[in-house]
Amino acid sequence: MKKVSEGVCPLHKKCGGCAYQGMTYEEQLGKKQRWVEGLMKKYGPVYPIVGMDVPYHYRNKVHAVFDRDRKGNIISGIYKEGTHHVIPVEHCQIEDQISDQIIGTIRRMAKSFKMKIYDEDTGWGFLRHVLIRRGFATGQIMVVLVTASPIFPSKNNFVKALRKEHPEITTIVQNINDKQTSMVLGEREQVLYGKGYIEDVLCGKTFRLSSKSFYQVNPVQTEKLYQKAKEAAGLSGKEIVIDAYCGIGTIGMTVADQAAAVIGVELNRDAVRDAVSNARRNKIENIRFVCDDAGKFMTGMAEAGKRADVVFLDPPRSGSTPAFLQSMVRMRPERIVYISCNPETLSRDVAWLRGRNYQVKGTWPYDMFPWAGHCESVVLLSRSSGKN
Ligand code: SAH
Repeated sequence: MKKVSEGVCPLHKKCGGCAYQGMTYEEQLGKKQRWVEGLMKKYGPVYPIVGMDVPYHYRNKVHAVFDRDRKGNIISGIYKEGTHHVIPVEHCQIEDQISDQIIGTIRRMAKSFKMKIYDEDTGWGFLRHVLIRRGFATGQIMVVLVTASPIFPSKNNFVKALRKEHPEITTIVQNINDKQTSMVLGEREQVLYGKGYIEDVLCGKTFRLSSKSFYQVNPVQTEKLYQKAKEAAGLSGKEIVIDAYCGIGTIGMTVADQAAAVIGVELNRDAVRDAVSNARRNKIENIRFVCDDAGKFMTGMAEAGKRADVVFLDPPRSGSTPAFLQSMVRMRPERIVYISCNPETLSRDVAWLRGRNYQVKGTWPYDMFPWAGHCESVVLLSRSSGKN
C-alpha cells in the first residue's frame, strides 16, 4: 500500500459517515478483519481482507443536499448524522474529486442565477439536491439536479453555463421531487442534456446506469470482488445460474460466459431496464432478467420444480428473507455465492443455510468502504452430498 495520508477530516465528527477517521488504514483493515472473523470463522476459513492501494476518493457517486446558512449563503453538503441539519462540505476524502468540483460550480451558479434553494421546513424553493455519478473507466459524468418543481427558470442558460465550466459532463438530468420526504430522488425525470445515463466498464463489460439504478460505489474494489465471486462459483459452462438482487446485471453478465444460462432478478424497474440494455450491448444472449421481489421469484421457481446449479445473491444490508432462503434451498443449488455488505445479516443467513446441508468453504472480506465502518464479503457455500 502506498503511504499517503490526507490527515483527519475536520468534519468527521459532525458528518458521521467515516467512523474510522483517526485510525491508520492498516488499523481499519485489522478491525474489519476481526469483525468478519468474529462472525464467520466459526463456519469456515476467513481469508485476509483485500484493501485498497490508495484508500481515498473512491466513491463514484456523490450526493449533496442544498440549503442556506444563517447568513443566507448557499451551502451544499450532507445532513448531520441523524438530523436534517445541513453541514457544508467542499472537500471529502472519499468522494470523487471531479464530482466535488462540479458541485462547487453549481453552488456558485445557483447564486448567480438567483436560484431558489428548497427549504425543507416550508416546502418552498426549487433546488434540493445534486447527485453526480462518474464512470471511472469511461470518464462519463452524469449530473442530476433534484428540484421541487418541473419549471426550471433559465434552464437552457444554466445547462449551457454548467457545460462550459465542465465540458467533461456527458449528461444532465432534472429529477423532480415535490414530496416532503427523506428520499433524494423523485419519480419524474427530464433529460436536459445528453443521453440521460452514463456507461462504465467493469470486468471488461460495458454497463449503462441511470440515476436510480444501484451501482457499486467503489469500482476499483468491485472488480476484485466480482473476480473472486466468479472464481468461487467454479463454473464449467453447463450451469443454470441465478443472480439474485442483480441491480443492473453486473454479476450475472460477468459470469455468463462460463454458464449455460443466467437469470437475474431485481425489484427496481429502472435497474432491470438498464440490465436488459446492458445484456444487449455486451451481446450476451444466455441471460434474462425478471423484475420482481427476489423472494417471490424464488418461491415461484421452487414451486414450479425448477432447479438452479449456482445461486449468487447480493441482498441489501438487511440481508435475505426466509422466503428467499427456503425456496433457494428447495432448488438444491450445488453452490451458493453470497455477497454481502453487512457481516451481521450475512452471519445470520449463513447460520440458517448451514442447518440445511450447506457448508461454508470460505469467507473473503473486501474493503469497499475505506474510513467507513462497513465491510463487504464473498462467501462460498457448498451443498453436502446427501439429502436436504
Ligand atoms: N448485485 C448488484 C446489486 C446489489 S445491491 C451489484 O453488485 O451491483 C442490492 C440490490 O437489491 C439493489 O439493486 C436493490 O434494488 C435490490 N433489491 C432490494 N430488495 C429487493 C428485493 N426484495 N427483491 C429483489 N431485489 C431487491
